[in-house]
Amino acid sequence: MTEALQPARGTHDLIGEEQRRFAYVADTARRIAAIYGFDEWQTPIFEDTRVFSRTLGETSDVVTKEMYTFDDRGGDSVTLRPEGTAGVCRALVTNGLTQSLPQKVFYAGPMFRYERPQKGRYRQFHQIGLELIGPAEPLADAEVIACGWDILKAIGVAGNTVLELNTLGDKESRQAYRDALVAYFTDHKASLSQDSLARLERNPMRILDSKDEGDRKIVANAPIIDEHLTDAARAFYDGLQQHLARFAVPFVRNPRIVRGLDYYGHTAFEFVTQKLGAQGTVMAGGRYDGLVAEMGGPATPAVGWAAGIERLSMLMEQAPPAPAPVAVVPIGEQAEAAAIPILQSLRAVGIRAEMAYRGNLKRRMERANRAGARAAVIIGADDLAAGVAQVKDLGSGTQHAIALDKIAAHLS
Ligand code: ATP
Ligand code: MG
Repeated sequence: MTEALQPARGTHDLIGEEQRRFAYVADTARRIAAIYGFDEWQTPIFEDTRVFSRTLGETSDVVTKEMYTFDDRGGDSVTLRPEGTAGVCRALVTNGLTQSLPQKVFYAGPMFRYERPQKGRYRQFHQIGLELIGPAEPLADAEVIACGWDILKAIGVAGNTVLELNTLGDKESRQAYRDALVAYFTDHKASLSQDSLARLERNPMRILDSKDEGDRKIVANAPIIDEHLTDAARAFYDGLQQHLARFAVPFVRNPRIVRGLDYYGHTAFEFVTQKLGAQGTVMAGGRYDGLVAEMGGPATPAVGWAAGIERLSMLMEQAPPAPAPVAVVPIGEQAEAAAIPILQSLRAVGIRAEMAYRGNLKRRMERANRAGARAAVIIGADDLAAGVAQVKDLGSGTQHAIALDKIAAHLS
């Protein structure tokens, strides 16, 4: 026998309950984003590698370790998208939309990162995301967060998540904070991990984000940004908190949330859960006023978030139920011919209806039960002659003769 092939490491098939959870998350997010005025965009799944290397920063984990990058047959370097924001900003510029602001973008789709697969961490995973491009006001940040919160509520996972909020201030605040961090971590150089020593040179704020146990102990006493905020940065952060209260979105402060790239400023936030072990961040976002310019467009303020569909699906307590069809059950060949227009009349009004391709009454009823059918329309020769069929409720077991042209209405 030929060897059966396995899915590539870190990828997974979505079948049955898993697919229903997944679709529910994406459909719910799409619906609520639309209510908030966001339009869905679809950008390509692979892009010119520079779309990501430029915007994610040459030294970020994603660019240095996680990207699926290869030369195509024509010798061009392309990359499977590791995240959605860079492609949306590229599309904003290439479609000439930088003068038509605001743009309110929703997206959903696969992302690719070469990571060590574990629970909640895959090589092909899927994200939903929002980008609100144009407004510089903290009200925009609050509204983007409020929409995310509403999505978490609608999916039924809000009770298990907490919004952790931070500010990264403006450029001036960050420069002052950076100096304070360098001074502090330089004093503790001897106990920092290899990775964090490298970060101390290139991007000291990223040390705050370290997952290394030893680093975390040092980070616990590191200075926070507050005393370095300029008046303008503080006013922005105060405004955001007031607006979040008006939107009735609860949050806690987490001064350790960073984004670590220069064009991220002011708002940084994560919705986190205790229920998924180490992979506790379900939704993450912030303000990235410098990114569109990085993509060759004009300076354009923007704020957004992305959430992992797999992690949200796992958090959902109950899976959406499997759909219960109506089974059409003809008895005999003649009845089968008459059953087809009845089958189609059910489908025409939106009822999920199925008819087996063969089998006697007993077999077909067994099949209907296995398929979880809610009702069976049993069509025998005598009933047909009288212009009726037997409609049996498979939950209660009750059965009624119903006129053929009333069956669809009866089952609706
Ligand atoms: P982490 O710290 O878990 O690696 P990240 O900071 O790399 O997350 P982001 O780039 O902010 O993640 O992506 C936003 C969200 O996408 C995450 O909060 C998570 O829900 C999801 N996500 C990121 N990487 C993966 C992955 N490899 N598999 C599944 N979901 C992921
Ligand atoms: Mg990661």
